[in-house]
Amino acid sequence: MVNDYEVAVVGGGLLGSAIGWGLGRIGQRVCVLDEGDVAKRASRANFALIWVQGKGLGMPAYSVWTVRASDTWSKLAAELRDQTGLDVCHQRNGGFYLALGDKELEQREAMLKRLHNQPGAADNRIEILDRDQVAKMLPQIGPEVSGGSFCPLDAHVNSLRTFRALHTGMLKFDVDYRPEQPVADIKHVGGEFRLTTPKGEIRAAKIVLAAGNTNQTLAPMVGLEAPMGPTRGQIVVTERTAPFLPHPLITIRQTDEGTVMIGDSKEEVLDDAVLNLPINAVMADRAQRIFPFLGRLNVVRTWSGIRVMPKDGFPIYDQSETYPGAFVACCHSGVTLASNHAFEIAPMVAAGALDLDKVGAFSAKRFHHLDVSTSGYY
Ligand SMILES: Cc1cc2nc3c(=O)[nH]c(=O)nc-3n(C[C@H](O)[C@H](O)[C@H](O)COP(=O)(O)OP(=O)(O)OC[C@H]3O[C@@H](n4cnc5c(N)ncnc54)[C@H](O)[C@@H]3O)c2cc1C
Repeated sequence: MVNDYEVAVVGGGLLGSAIGWGLGRIGQRVCVLDEGDVAKRASRANFALIWVQGKGLGMPAYSVWTVRASDTWSKLAAELRDQTGLDVCHQRNGGFYLALGDKELEQREAMLKRLHNQPGAADNRIEILDRDQVAKMLPQIGPEVSGGSFCPLDAHVNSLRTFRALHTGMLKFDVDYRPEQPVADIKHVGGEFRLTTPKGEIRAAKIVLAAGNTNQTLAPMVGLEAPMGPTRGQIVVTERTAPFLPHPLITIRQTDEGTVMIGDSKEEVLDDAVLNLPINAVMADRAQRIFPFLGRLNVVRTWSGIRVMPKDGFPIYDQSETYPGAFVACCHSGVTLASNHAFEIAPMVAAGALDLDKVGAFSAKRFHHLDVSTSGYY
C-alpha cells in the first residue's frame, strides 16, 4: 500500500506545527493540513509564557510533564535557531506570581503547598518570597505588593517568532504544509486514513488531530474523544519602555522588543471579535498596583483570543483503540509544551504508540469517571 504520507497532522497551529516539525526532524514523510492564516487562533493570541509554577493541582503528572518541557525548551530554541536562523528569544530567568496583600500571599502559598504535597508531583523548586526579597529582584514594585512565589523554571519566548520558526523549519524538513485545506471528514479504508479536504483527498498511514477546539468534532470520526470547554482571554500591550522586568510575571511580561504585555483574563465567551473593556480596566489596574510606573505608559494594542481548553484544563494525548494510528493532541499551554510535542509526542507517533509511562495520565478516558471542573491551567 502506498500512502501519500506516513503521517497527516490536522491543524497547523502551535501544536500541529511542533508535532509536524518533530516528525520532520526524524525523517518522517509528513503533511500538515490547516484552515489557513485567516483563522484567528490561540497560537497567534497568546501570552508567550513557558510556565511551570502552579501547574498540576489535581493531576501531578501534569507538573512532571511541564517541568520536562521547561527543561528541554532551550534545546528547541537552539535547534530552531541553527536550522532557520530565527532567534525565538527564549529566556529562562525564572518567573513570579506577585501578591497584593497578605491574604493573597497566604492563599498562594497554601495552593502551592497542596500542589507540592501530591504524590508524584514534580519538584518545581518554587520559593515563597517576602516583600523585601521580591524588591531585591524587582525594585520597581508598588507598596501594595506583599510578596510572591518565584519559580526558577519559568521562562518566556517570542511566541509569534516561535510559530514562524516552526513553520520555516517544517519546510526545511520537507514537511508538506497545506493551508486552506480544512479536514471535513476522516475515513479509515483499507488500513489507511483518508481525509476529505476542499482540495481533494489526502491519504496517510497515521493521523494526528491537532486542530485545537475542533478536535472535539474530529476525534469521534476515529474512535477518539476530546471534550473541550474553550474560554476567552484578553491581553493589553503598552508602548515600548526601557528594560525594567528581568523576570516574567504570570500576568505581566516585558517582551524582547520592549513592550509590556498585561494579561490575562478568563471568560466563558467564544467571540474573539470583540473586547470586554471593563476586563481590560481591571487587568490594567492590577498591573499598575504591582508596578506603579506602568500607569504612565500608553496602551498601543489589545486583543482577545479563544483558548484551546480541554474540559478539566489538562492536556489530552490519546490514541485510538478502534483505529490504530489515529492520535489526538490538545492542550491549553501550547507554548509551554512545544518542546514536549516536538521531542516526545512526535517520536511516539512515528513509533505508532504513545508511551503510557509518560503520557498515560492524559488519556481522555479520565473524563469517563471524573467529575471535571476547569482547573490547573496556564
Ligand atoms: C489569551 C491567551 C493567552 C495564552 N497564553 C499562553 C501562555 O502564556 N503560555 C502557553 O503555553 N499557552 C498560552 N496560551 C495557549 C496557547 O496559545 C495554545 O495552547 C496553543 O496556541 C494551542 O495551539 P493549537 O495548535 O492547539 O490550537 P490553535 O492555535 O487554535 O490552532 C488550531 C489550528 O487547527 C486548524 N484547524 C481547525 N480546524 C481544522 C480542520 N477541520 N482541518 C484542518 N485544520 C483545522 C486551525 O486553522 C488552526 O490553525 C494562551 C492562549 C490565549 C488565548
